[in-house]
Amino acid sequence: MERTLAIIKPDAVERRLAGPIIQRIEDAGFGIRAMRRVHLSKKDAEGFYAVHRARPFFASLTRFMSSGPAVVLVLEAPDAIKKWRTLMGATDPAKADAGTLRKEFAQSIERNATHGSDAPETAAYEIGYFFSGLELI
Ligand code: GDP
Repeated sequence: MERTLAIIKPDAVERRLAGPIIQRIEDAGFGIRAMRRVHLSKKDAEGFYAVHRARPFFASLTRFMSSGPAVVLVLEAPDAIKKWRTLMGATDPAKADAGTLRKEFAQSIERNATHGSDAPETAAYEIGYFFSGLELI
């Protein structure tokens, strides 16, 4: 079993897509080990995306991610990191495969509905950013 961090981003929560996205997560066979609604501050978003600090879209991305409530989840499944990224689809919805969440729900490369960790080390950092060990028993 592997765990990954998923976020239903503010664009999707605002458009009342949290329910349909959680349904898709359950239909795909993930276990939801933890889940919480959060409204990140700009500083919280900057800390979460610190690896992207030098990217030209960093300011815009962190403004977007702190613009409204999001839902953070810890998903569990065999090969969960890859499995969740496959269900999400490509970062840019224009390039995402049919049937993926981003193809269906994203509005742009930035407002792309969901986040998923990209490697075991980032999953560990990102899960720890939002959840304590006690919440994951
Ligand atoms: P991910 O792992 O698929 O989420 O993609 P990245 O780690 O490359 O980027 C993190 C997030 O930054 C993406 O999910 C988008 O919300 C945003 N992003 C990525 N590329 C761009 C871009 O070229 N322009 C803008 N405005 N946002 C971007």
